[in-house]
Amino acid sequence: MSESLFADASKRLARAMKYVSISDDALEYLKYPKASLTVSIPVRMDDGSLRIFQGYRVRYDDTRGPGKGGVRYHPNVSLDEVQSLAFWMTFKCAVLNLPFGGAKGGITVNPKELSKLELERLSRGYIDAIADFIGPDIDIPAPDVYTNPTIMGWYMNQYSIIRRQLTPAVVTGKPLSLGGSMGRDTATGTGAFFVIETMMAKFDCPPQQTTVAVQGFGNAGSVVAELLAKAGYKVVAVSDSQGGIYAKKGLDIPSIRRYKEANKGLQALYCEGSVCNIVEHEIITNEQLLALDVDVLVPAALENQITETNVDHIKAKYIFEVANGPITSAADRVLEAKGIYVIPDILANAGGVTVSYFEWVQNRSGMYWSLEEVNQQLKRKIVAETENIWKISQEHAIPMRTAAYAYALQRLGEALSAKGTRHYYAS
Ligand code: NAD
Repeated sequence: MSESLFADASKRLARAMKYVSISDDALEYLKYPKASLTVSIPVRMDDGSLRIFQGYRVRYDDTRGPGKGGVRYHPNVSLDEVQSLAFWMTFKCAVLNLPFGGAKGGITVNPKELSKLELERLSRGYIDAIADFIGPDIDIPAPDVYTNPTIMGWYMNQYSIIRRQLTPAVVTGKPLSLGGSMGRDTATGTGAFFVIETMMAKFDCPPQQTTVAVQGFGNAGSVVAELLAKAGYKVVAVSDSQGGIYAKKGLDIPSIRRYKEANKGLQALYCEGSVCNIVEHEIITNEQLLALDVDVLVPAALENQITETNVDHIKAKYIFEVANGPITSAADRVLEAKGIYVIPDILANAGGVTVSYFEWVQNRSGMYWSLEEVNQQLKRKIVAETENIWKISQEHAIPMRTAAYAYALQRLGEALSAKGTRHYYAS
């Protein structure tokens, strides 16, 4: 990732500023991450050799509460990428009115190349390195790309060893047996499904007549694909890092999910089976998936998937950003001019952090909720905020992304001003 990812992310803020009254001081604060940590993590490999991995944690803003954000394990992880993701988390938590600021972490590694034991040593080493930077009232990590509940369990255990105190609220997305929440594993996809349902009703698109393509068949993408298929939408294409599959009549999503589960290679916990291995469909590339003539496109893999290079090929009418930052700001402008409706990441994928918040609340109160309670509370919150953002977008005739940033900016601005700004002291 280059520096441009963060610069690009910041452009969204500039556009939203026109629609809110926010002090210059507050805006100045929001231009910079509050704190960034880069660490070197030594790991003893299975063959006895020593490898040093680079890790990061960025707390972008914690005015509204402790930092909150996932940890990504990927060869492309860089400080710039982590900073951009922490920036998005700040706005996402404000959109959902969660009492959190924004943070993110990452390790530059290809986790598929590590054994399970190497992965555990790396994960525990990461917590050793950042332990003073995180905590239940400081900054709370969670899963992101190529991290999962098992890794969150190691994080919680390692942090508790360091503090000599069981501290479940230091990390969310844990296994249920270690204080995880019901519904956290499916929360991002479930939240996205509630947002899609709410918006498609406004666009007057009945499920049975709506075709969908989903890029990325991981934690977020596979759940949203399955929920959409169950609700009657015709999911015609899905993909993973190896490529995609397409069937005009619609794919049998539950069986594809089962296939992915069954073929999961145990090497380092990651799924080695690709959706490409399933028969009775046409094989397509990720580029072809993005260019399909479908009603709804759901990018649910990584950032920068729709750029100036391929935006002209996009034919979908509605795009729901389940991944973080899948569309560049330059591509956004082209999509807007073409009349393609984009529902932004800071709303569409906010289900994950919302249930992470529920998990944190449950850990601190010692009272645990049923799956029904979790999903009910998630639906209530995310549908209400979708409606609020829709209203702003209609009032000002602006895209949902600008409306979502304006909405979050208002909340952030009020909190920053209440802390003390030039206006505050002048009056
Ligand atoms: P994951 O690791 O479970 O799955 C990622 C999926 O993307 C895998 O199927 C992988 O094969 C696929 N993929 C990777 N590179 C690809 C490529 N170039 N083209 C197509 N597919 C590719 O990760 P996840 O948790 O589902 O996260 C996916 C996106 O959703 C990320 O942008 C993440 O930041 C975002 N997100 C996740 C959560 C969460 O709770 N997991 C919450 C909010 C946002």
